[in-house]
Amino acid sequence: MNPIVDLRSDTVTQPTHAMREAMMAAPLGDDVFGEDPSVNALQEKIASLLGFEAALFVPTGTQSNLCAVLAHCQRGDEFIAGQLQHCYRWEGGNAAVFGGVQPQPIAHQPDKTLALADIAEAIKPDDQHFARSKLLALENTMMGKVIPLDYIAEATALARSRGLATHLDGARLFNAAVEQARRTGGEAKAEARKIARYFDTVSVCFSKGLGAPVGSALCGSQELIARARRIRKMAGGAMRQAGFLAAAVSHALDHHIDRLSEDHALARRLAEGLRGIEGLQVEEPDTNVLFVDLHGPARDKSEELLEALKREGVLAWGLYRLRFVTHLGVDAQGIDRCIAAVRRFFHA
Ligand SMILES: *Cc1c(COP(=O)(O)O)cnc(C)c1O
Repeated sequence: MNPIVDLRSDTVTQPTHAMREAMMAAPLGDDVFGEDPSVNALQEKIASLLGFEAALFVPTGTQSNLCAVLAHCQRGDEFIAGQLQHCYRWEGGNAAVFGGVQPQPIAHQPDKTLALADIAEAIKPDDQHFARSKLLALENTMMGKVIPLDYIAEATALARSRGLATHLDGARLFNAAVEQARRTGGEAKAEARKIARYFDTVSVCFSKGLGAPVGSALCGSQELIARARRIRKMAGGAMRQAGFLAAAVSHALDHHIDRLSEDHALARRLAEGLRGIEGLQVEEPDTNVLFVDLHGPARDKSEELLEALKREGVLAWGLYRLRFVTHLGVDAQGIDRCIAAVRRFFHA
């Protein structure tokens, strides 16, 4: 039996052998006392890599975004974000539940950015009727799309000119950076820094394409990270000998950034292989996430298709649209099996 080709998410990766060795070799201490050398080294590494004073290692991207929003906002404040952004739509309303912070979602443009006019209009004047607008949160990549640097510059300048802080949910920041580097002929880490410098705080996930088992980091000024550290503690995210996990992440930062381009190439290979099948509308992937919509007579076939793929050992995800995500656990052979299975389903 062939191994499963799991394209549901880039969170399903297993640590490589070399990563496991780095984990086993990690020096450990109690990180609540600030004494875990591996956590401290990781926090310094990611802060300096992205050009910030400080960073905080947290268990999940959700907690990282929560720490950021609550470090920037008080009860009765609000943050502006896109309707489809993770920190608004996919985190259970956590900022409202735990912090009394109201989200102000706005609709995305077709390229997944937020129109500057919509952002400007959503920012409330200082008036007793309104929540206080305190933070603009963006996401990059956003549904697999690289958000253009020019746009980021304009949107964050607008926020700043109206007195708002800025946060980037960069769960897949390095995917954006690697693709940006391919387009500009630059270097991925330098591109990541170019994106990050527009924001007061940046959250990055290590448990996605970078292939670490657990963990995210929030980067920012000493002052913001000190506030975030209190929130992490209150949220139950202050871990003890977390150096095992931090060592896996450090290994990923050293070895798994540039290889993200292989995941992007596989997403393009999958898109090409699926193009031309009657009933499928295949997006052009920027990075490692490929969306496919069913239309015409195939419109209501997504569940059936996902079941048929599963019988052939290919897993994908489809809540609204079909989503295929490439990562270090899949190769070209697996992608070709996925293409063949979809073609068989459509007799194409
Ligand atoms: C996955 C993800 C998160 C949250 O990550 P968890 O570690 O699953 O909590 C946040 N933002 C974006 C854009 C993500 O893709």
